[in-house]
Amino acid sequence: MTSTAKLSTQPQDPAYAIALTQFNAIADKLGLDDGLREWLSLPQRELTTHFPVRMDDGSLKVFKGYRVQHSLARGPAKGGIRYHPRVNLEEVRALAMWMAWKCAVVDLPFGGAKGGVACNPKEMSMAELERMTRRFASEISIFIGPENDIPAPDVNTNAQVMAWIMDTYSMHKGYSVLGVVTGKPLAIGGSQGRDEATGRGTAIIASEVMRRQGGSIDGATVAIQGFGNAGTHAARILSDMGARVIAATDSQGGRYNPRGLNVKRAIAAKRETGQLGNYRDGDAISNDELLEMPCDILIPAALENQITGSNAPRVKAKVIVEAANGPTTPEADEMLNENGVTVVPDILANAGGVIVSYFEWIQGRQHYFWDLAEVQAKLERIMKNAYDEVVAMATTPKVSLREAALMLGVGRVTESIKLRGVYP
Ligand code: NAD
Repeated sequence: MTSTAKLSTQPQDPAYAIALTQFNAIADKLGLDDGLREWLSLPQRELTTHFPVRMDDGSLKVFKGYRVQHSLARGPAKGGIRYHPRVNLEEVRALAMWMAWKCAVVDLPFGGAKGGVACNPKEMSMAELERMTRRFASEISIFIGPENDIPAPDVNTNAQVMAWIMDTYSMHKGYSVLGVVTGKPLAIGGSQGRDEATGRGTAIIASEVMRRQGGSIDGATVAIQGFGNAGTHAARILSDMGARVIAATDSQGGRYNPRGLNVKRAIAAKRETGQLGNYRDGDAISNDELLEMPCDILIPAALENQITGSNAPRVKAKVIVEAANGPTTPEADEMLNENGVTVVPDILANAGGVIVSYFEWIQGRQHYFWDLAEVQAKLERIMKNAYDEVVAMATTPKVSLREAALMLGVGRVTESIKLRGVYP
């Protein structure tokens, strides 16, 4: 029997609509009863805050921020904080739900959470960003902590933002609390390899898919949508593996060169000028063109809802590895499956970030830090194991990799809550 979450029968946000549709399909496959289905489809806790920030011109601006904990069944909630004008409660709920399934797919002892502030960081000074971050951190400090909920970077947040959150939280405690956030700078308890971890995990998966399909990542052509943390590191590591990155875009458009972009120079141009389009190599391309470009591997690494029913029939990539969260709608998923495109879902393909966040959390709690080789080796082992488990799950009965990953993730969270029972 199919039911939808009572909290929001008509989701307004496309990401939340995608997350609920995916969840309900998997709940059917797993045969969850109505009570479990409703419990698992709803966020355990959510916080909305309106908070004031003094802007540089002396005016007071009120921002709206959120922190949602989807599930704490398997351990402390874990998930990033996003700064973007489109951030809203439903989007954060969707991202928190995906975090719960993702942590379970790669078998980390974490629940799922997400947070965000509706703002346009590109129009704010560093001082305004710092004041907004510190006040937001203070507002959500009743929710977060090393034992209960650990934020990390997401779209438009970075190691500096994590440093401000860690400092704000620590000021209230009176001592340094390393485990309150991950993705911190190395100098204050960050982990080697965290910055590149999402992109590295995506690259490891892309390479495994090619190998399993009887090919090789060496010489494979790759197109990447989104040239931020996830996209640039994936591009660099895939190019080091021998792949040819023929196209990349950011929100303003991008570049295409069939002989392969010089990834290091493209990253430098993006860093120095803020726009990948300023890298003068090959031809200018739009995001629509990139998504429909002939290539072996397409990596969406920007935002949700990019591959939809309207462009999926024109996608020519053989393999899609989702570095972004929720880039493919369920309608597009069906079309891609029918067209024989292998789609490695977000909750597996971008799990590298939360895996190394887990390492950072462990290191911070032990005050004992590992070298880069150790982090990379442990990351690779977990990613490959999880990929093998998802592929095995997808074999009998035959389901897509997304269905298999969700069955694994939702199944593990279900097992945890069943074992723990219902309190009181
Ligand atoms: P980021 O802010 O560093 O980069 C986002 C990039 O996407 C920017 O280059 C931006 O210009 C580009 N972009 C935005 N809208 C676009 C559009 N319509 N078309 C093309 N490009 C566009 O963010 P990030 O941390 O790299 O996150 C990207 C995605 O990866 C998000 O979905 C995020 O949730 C997911 N993710 C990130 C991490 C992480 O560790 N950073 C971990 C897991 C998942």
